[in-house]
Amino acid sequence: QFSEGKFYVQKKDIALRHKNFSRFSHKGDFGKVMLVGGSFGSMGAIRMSSEAALRTGSGLACCMVPGCGVDIMQVSLPEAQVWAKKDSDCIDADYLGYNFDRFDAVGVGPGMGTHDTTAEFLRGFLTKYKGPIVVDADGLNILAKHPEQLSLLADRSILTPHLLEFERLAGHCKNHKDRLQKASDFSKKHKVIIVLKGAHTCITFPDGRQFFNSTGNKHMATGGSGDILTGMITSFLGQGYSFENAALCAVFHHGLSGEIASADKKRGTIATDIIKSIPLSYLRLGI
Ligand code: AMP
Ligand code: MG
Repeated sequence: QFSEGKFYVQKKDIALRHKNFSRFSHKGDFGKVMLVGGSFGSMGAIRMSSEAALRTGSGLACCMVPGCGVDIMQVSLPEAQVWAKKDSDCIDADYLGYNFDRFDAVGVGPGMGTHDTTAEFLRGFLTKYKGPIVVDADGLNILAKHPEQLSLLADRSILTPHLLEFERLAGHCKNHKDRLQKASDFSKKHKVIIVLKGAHTCITFPDGRQFFNSTGNKHMATGGSGDILTGMITSFLGQGYSFENAALCAVFHHGLSGEIASADKKRGTIATDIIKSIPLSYLRLGI
């Protein structure tokens, strides 16, 4: 803690927040997660979120994608299950027919687009599913376009905007101080956790506490980086971590994975390099 309600998150704080699993654990113990997203021409985002969830330790990752993305997912990530409706180019309201309750956590948004029918899906999904969720990317852009949907968010849903997505949701921010205040007000008002991404990502809880991350670097500012974080937070939620520990552990490991990945690549780092380094980040903490 460096000032009232403000904390700087370091390695020693994170190691303690991890769950131990027994040697007799089976894949159910590590959680089943669902990642929803993708659209024609934007399948990479959900593909990377899904792999990140698996690399973070989920027992099972399933992705819900439009029909045009089925082959892409099955060929590029054979470990993931795929749920899809044939002949569709984006997630639409028909996807509400699926049962989400068998998942321990759901991440929604990467590459999803903001089509009206996708917005209708999100409205129905938020009404139906009351388990732990992460909303990112176009999921947030839909909420910004349809602010009445904010009231459907279950308490402690985790929202992961970058600076621009946050301004779409909360309005223009004059400077960083104003941005942090708006994050705090937004979190309190909607009872959600805001992961405001950037250098020293700030995680704000509805009780007003703000945690600033210590890991990561500028080489992580590359397309797909945030989609990986979505998969990681969803994975920890699915493994039974508390909302607080899931957000803090995922942001920390995401940053550390980025540091490890970029050590020998610097500005040549790309998002899939970060995914490959997630296991090394665990090794650094001895877990
Ligand atoms: P997105 O914009 O959704 O792809 O998310 C970008 C990700 O990269 C977030 O997790 C950011 O925290 C991280 N990131 C971007 N720029 C920096 C930076 N300069 N230092 C550390 N992390 C960064
Ligand atoms: Mg993003």
